[in-house]
Amino acid sequence: MPIWNPEYETMPRDQLEKLQAKRLKEVVARLAATSPLYKKRFADAKVTADDINSLDDLSRLPFTEKSDFRDHYPYGMFIVPMDQVVRIHASSGTTGKPTVGGYTRADMDLWAEVMARTVSSAGVTNQDIVHNAYGYGLFTGGLGFHLGADRVGATVIPMSGGLTRRQVMLMEDFGATVLTSTPSYSLVIAEEAADMGIDFKKRMKVRVGIFGAEPWTEKMRHEIQEKLGVEAFDIYGLTEIIGPGVAVECPQHNGMHINEDHFLAEIIDPITGERLGYDQEGELVFTTLTKEAMPVVRYRTRDRTILHADKCACGRTTVRMEKIMGRTDDMLIVRGVNIFPQLIEKTLLSIEDIEPHYQIVIDRPKDQLDTLEVWVEASPRLFQPIDTRRLDELQTRVSTELMQTLGISASVKLMGPKSIARSEGKARRVVDKRDL
Ligand code: ADP
Ligand code: ZN
Repeated sequence: MPIWNPEYETMPRDQLEKLQAKRLKEVVARLAATSPLYKKRFADAKVTADDINSLDDLSRLPFTEKSDFRDHYPYGMFIVPMDQVVRIHASSGTTGKPTVGGYTRADMDLWAEVMARTVSSAGVTNQDIVHNAYGYGLFTGGLGFHLGADRVGATVIPMSGGLTRRQVMLMEDFGATVLTSTPSYSLVIAEEAADMGIDFKKRMKVRVGIFGAEPWTEKMRHEIQEKLGVEAFDIYGLTEIIGPGVAVECPQHNGMHINEDHFLAEIIDPITGERLGYDQEGELVFTTLTKEAMPVVRYRTRDRTILHADKCACGRTTVRMEKIMGRTDDMLIVRGVNIFPQLIEKTLLSIEDIEPHYQIVIDRPKDQLDTLEVWVEASPRLFQPIDTRRLDELQTRVSTELMQTLGISASVKLMGPKSIARSEGKARRVVDKRDL
């Protein structure tokens, strides 16, 4: 499997770390000179670029938080004049104002480069036809993948999300060999194909899927690989850093290699802010080393993972981040107990006859304890004809397993096929109706 940029992706670690330290010093100097926000932060922390001489000096630098983006909405995080900004993107921001990202011409080039590395890591070449079902628009997914697939010379089909029946038809007619979408939407496509009487695995030429933008478990990977007959690659990114292109799995599937020559990663204790080492779980923090329009220092992603720096068989020397284990802010506290949605997903998908479509609904009826409901679809075959005995058994089984893993009881609702709303982009797994 070709490596897009061997010079940087396989650079000996000592050399890579030297390069990172040099770039870190430069970005701190640049921010101190151009950004009122960072000028003040660095002054408060009593640190200047002169103090930054190795990666050990990182911990002297202040953090950047999501709230900084909100407080400086829309363009306050940019450090170049608008005549140099050639593109704006923004996160979905379902509540309140979105998080805005700005790109200079050089940033766009960097984005194409890291996305070319990304798709290459999944084996995509100019021989491929890429069906890109990530949403086009302000969301970074669609246009980010477009850039990378274009750069490697693949044939890009700019589908965007939605009109699923048409997606299935065009995937077949155009002979797509690669599917890029959110993991949840890939299952919607597979389901639609089945409804159309199309045997996806047999009729489609798709061999690779690159899925990300939302958390998904190993169980979900197996479901997807099974239903679509593809090798599924996980990809990670976020608007504040660049969009997709921050990290991607290699064919070893043992974590996502981070493009460390551009994005310096560390893990911190989310409570104390202290730096943790490799192989330790905590909050992922990024510093952009080469971005022009909107560099960030020690951005707290709120995503929880572990970094590994041991050798990977693929030849890349960059660190690997494990699958995102959840967000420090998506931990639900239900009746005082910490609950992670991904643990619920993992439990559900380990049970036979349970489909990968679910929603977690939490409520707090007046003056009462929190209620936790898990709505999940059971296999369509239990509904034609309806097999009440098996459904009852299944309901008990799911309740028992959830009780065992979560430590509190959940009321389980088994649903018929397609009763849980499907999403074209990121799936909405948690509905918290409490007024917290
Ligand atoms: P938003 O989700 O707020 O619209 P983004 O599109 O920038 O904003 O999403 C970035 C977030 O999406 C990440 O911080 C992370 O929580 C999540 N995410 C992205 N890729 C993955 C992935 N492969 N696995 C798990 N979570 C992911
Ligand atoms: Zn690897």
